[in-house]
Amino acid sequence: MNAVHFPVDRMLPVQELLSTPKSIVITTHHRPDGDAMGSSLGLYGFLKAKGHQVHVIVPSDYPDFLYWLPGHQDVTIFSPEKDSILEAILNAEVLFCLDFNWLNRTETMEPVLRKSTGVKILIDHHLDPEHCYDHVFSHTDACATAELVYEFIAALGEAESITPDIAECLYCGIMTDTNSFRYSSMKAATHRIVAGLMEAGAVNYRVHERVYDNFTENRLRLLGYILKDKMKVLPELNTAYISMSSAELDMFNFKPGDTEGIVNYALSIQGIRFAVFFIERDGLVKISFRSKDEFSAKDFASSYFEGGGHRNASGGRSLESLDKTVERFLSILPHYKSKLTS
Ligand code: 5GP
Ligand code: MN
Repeated sequence: MNAVHFPVDRMLPVQELLSTPKSIVITTHHRPDGDAMGSSLGLYGFLKAKGHQVHVIVPSDYPDFLYWLPGHQDVTIFSPEKDSILEAILNAEVLFCLDFNWLNRTETMEPVLRKSTGVKILIDHHLDPEHCYDHVFSHTDACATAELVYEFIAALGEAESITPDIAECLYCGIMTDTNSFRYSSMKAATHRIVAGLMEAGAVNYRVHERVYDNFTENRLRLLGYILKDKMKVLPELNTAYISMSSAELDMFNFKPGDTEGIVNYALSIQGIRFAVFFIERDGLVKISFRSKDEFSAKDFASSYFEGGGHRNASGGRSLESLDKTVERFLSILPHYKSKLTS
């Protein structure tokens, strides 16, 4: 247990706050991933069992390979037109913000979150959180927000309250954010937490199967097309990149989540240290950056593509056309030749 993440003195007011039933909203970032949903629903299961009135409200839909997560049927997808949702947020006594640092990562939820006077508690592992939360548990050395949620529950003295359902949510968060426990962010202590989750009833192979062996045929055909025809490799810059137009996505009946993880294939090529995926969706180009070792995908994303994230896994965006965006990327890349090849 990493007591530094949730020190007693900073936990006391939170413990006091949660000692009587509260109306609570849990939210996470736009286009929630496995960690966003796993940590939110793990915390949801815990708080609900403690007698709180809890809503999980997320900014947008999430991939259907997460639809099995215990509690997912209770998740509300935010809509700024729905008064009942706005009221739930405005009336919440406590707001848990999970797996994001800046409120603008919640996109259309940002204004109502800012307006809400509920006590805002951040639990996250991204760099540089915004100064708008009442309690900040922001730790970039954590591999996943789900790991921090486990520690948060343990710091409340409630590790014994982790049910098999909660354990599977948190297991899913750690598993997806570490690409199945393989990133450098996986510490021995994280393996101990994962062991604790299995002891609490998480069935490890079942979670893996539900997330990784649950693809549609279309998704696999899309992967084949991308790897064969769309992935470009620049060996002199140790970089590989992929660009997909919305017309190409339509050919494969694209659904959110279908391209998740595909950028990692580009990074798995021998010698490649920087992998980038451009995808044209909803009127903009969304970009995923992945890197190895010291090369900072985050610096690249924040310097040129309005993005951020972690050193080795970041995201960004561009309002230019897909072709123009890739052109701009290719014109910037050679400036990084020494960093990419040293
Ligand atoms: P992904 O490529 O999987 O969408 O995102 C990788 C990482 O970058 C995630 O940790 C995510 O939180 C972060 N990220 C993705 N898109 C953005 C963005 O537009 N802005 C910032 N600041 N971070 C992002
Ligand atoms: Mn995360």
